[in-house]
Amino acid sequence: MPNSPLSQTHWDGYPEFSLPGIVEFCRAILPPEFGGPDPEAIGSLVQKYAGFLPPPARYGLRAATCAIKLGTYGQLRSADPDVRVKALRRMQKFGAGQAIDAIKTVILLASGADKYSDDILTRSNINPYARPDSILDITPSSEWGSLSYYDAIVIGSGAGGAMAARNLSRAGLSVVIVEEGRRHSVEEFRSNHPLRRWAELYRDSGATVALGIPPVVLPIGRGVGGTTLVNSGTCYRPPTKVMLRWRDESGLDLANPDDLNPFLDDVWETLKIGPVDLNIMGNNGLTALRGAGELKWANAPLNRNAPGCGGCCQCAIGCPRNAKYGVHLNALPDACENGAKILTNARVVRIATEGGRATGVIALRENGTHLEIRAPIVVVACGATETPPLLRRSHLGHHPRLGKNLALHPAIGISGRFDEEITPWKGVLQSASVEEFHDSDGILIEATSTPPGMGSMVLPGIGKDLLNEISQANMLCTLGAMIGDDGNGSVIGSRNSIVTYNLKNHDGKRLVKAIWAMGKVLLAAGASEVLTGIPSHPVVRTVEELENATKSANYKSLHVAAFHPTGTCAAGSDPQKHPVDPSGSLRGVIGVWVADASIIPSCPEVNPQVSIMALAQSVAGKIIEASS
Ligand SMILES: Cc1cc2nc3c(=O)[nH]c(=O)nc-3n(C[C@H](O)[C@H](O)[C@H](O)COP(=O)(O)OP(=O)(O)OC[C@H]3O[C@@H](n4cnc5c(N)ncnc54)[C@H](O)[C@@H]3O)c2cc1C
Ligand code: SF4
Repeated sequence: MPNSPLSQTHWDGYPEFSLPGIVEFCRAILPPEFGGPDPEAIGSLVQKYAGFLPPPARYGLRAATCAIKLGTYGQLRSADPDVRVKALRRMQKFGAGQAIDAIKTVILLASGADKYSDDILTRSNINPYARPDSILDITPSSEWGSLSYYDAIVIGSGAGGAMAARNLSRAGLSVVIVEEGRRHSVEEFRSNHPLRRWAELYRDSGATVALGIPPVVLPIGRGVGGTTLVNSGTCYRPPTKVMLRWRDESGLDLANPDDLNPFLDDVWETLKIGPVDLNIMGNNGLTALRGAGELKWANAPLNRNAPGCGGCCQCAIGCPRNAKYGVHLNALPDACENGAKILTNARVVRIATEGGRATGVIALRENGTHLEIRAPIVVVACGATETPPLLRRSHLGHHPRLGKNLALHPAIGISGRFDEEITPWKGVLQSASVEEFHDSDGILIEATSTPPGMGSMVLPGIGKDLLNEISQANMLCTLGAMIGDDGNGSVIGSRNSIVTYNLKNHDGKRLVKAIWAMGKVLLAAGASEVLTGIPSHPVVRTVEELENATKSANYKSLHVAAFHPTGTCAAGSDPQKHPVDPSGSLRGVIGVWVADASIIPSCPEVNPQVSIMALAQSVAGKIIEASS
């Protein structure tokens, strides 16, 4: 792979995971005869990425490549690109469509990231930092002693954990934040290959999926700052009707607007939240605003926590300017200034208890040894997919609703083709909203792109057709929409989390309505055609065609993703329904508190980081009250 930038950007020494026939797949899916990339180079890159995947994903990928290779009787090796494509199409007809999609996704992720690697790194370095990395008191677990003592342990350094730790340390408690991931520096975001950034910043290298019909791709961040490291920086206060639902239907007093608003104000100020500047928004967001404006639908630039944003569209792989103001740049340094320590590369395997009271945690170092920290207060903030398994591992998971009630805020993306250049990856990654159907249907549309090249994963077709789509990707405007859903999923397992989620019929129908609404916006903005993502009607050119496509669409065949899991350890007043009481304390034990997305009783219907941070602060307030 001598010509790939990957080899020049610090991936040397990373093992490849062998995927038999992967080079042949690269030649079939992106034929070099029609301008596709060097299949050897991309094959090697894919195998490096596969080396990062968790065993089930990487062996699943290997099983898929082996089975399809066998089923195509060597035709993928044909010198004729048409024969190779026909062989894959035949396998698609014989039911191997999902397996081929999975292989295609990783090939496109690798080739797209590689193609734009130079561009991404150049753009990362054009501007100086908006701010340097913050000063954090960090110790990796390899250098941490085997026994230590604190007033409070916070598990997880993401949106909830960071805010809880900040407030506890401000109140004078000695606090340690235990984080499974490591610290990522802005210098790494300015120099590492984009695929490596993707592989390292996400749990299971971004391959997390909620199993169900349809399966839902569910990426989750891991590192100092948690998912705020990779999120898009969009900020919403929870709508008042949602806060009232949490208060009145779940008995979550913390969500009483009069009580939560001061914390929401604090988050707004701490994160320096403000609207996206139209000068850096980029054509993607501007086109969405124009389309919604034509329809006279409610629209606006999004509010974001990104002071100094230069619009380089890399939020999902770490901001190379430290402009996106994740908690690693505000709440965590504040906590450290007040004496908090951050222990990294340490996975908490168990919360220790004695006589019904928390006594501390046991954490695993990367070398397989354990360390123990003792404290009477343990705050769990591992995120909605990791908190339930940890509680189960700790024998604190007896509540029948623990792990249940998972809402995902499912998302769907579509794109519109324009005659002029949009280049959606030039500008702010998530920049503008269309809220016309937010209040009425819980549908929130946001103009959302991906880092350069990484959006090609969703383009239709294989072979020459796919290359054609990729070459015209700069003419696409890409929108995403999320729907407020019922908490219909579960997180099962104790050693590792397994997420299951089946879209309810009425939620699925609203996802289809979201496609219709986004299609209308794109057509109103002047799109010549819309790529709907609906398998039976992949392309529509008029509103009438859009209506027909969405009328007959089956939501079970859509490609759905989600970024906002909540509710798996819901807080509320009903001991039968809510594993956590209204103050954030885990029922059935003294001294264990929960302060992350999992306590949110039902889908927040907006991007949730602000809600999580405010609720975590409220929980911290209750801990301080209880311990004084
Ligand atoms: C791609 C993407 C884009 C997003 N964009 C937005 C957006 O624009 N706006 C918005 O509001 N929200 C957005 N979100 C969602 C938002 O970032 C999350 O909802 C929020 O960060 C969740 O906060 P949390 O505290 O529950 O968990 P996290 O922030 O995920 O933090 C949990 C931390 O706990 C650590 N951890 C887990 N288990 C253990 C263990 N056993 N031991 C030690 N540490 C552990 C994890 O490594 C992680 O660092 C986005 C999410 C994604 C994936
Ligand atoms: S678009 Fe995202 S990654 Fe780029 S400067 Fe702005 S916040 Fe940072």
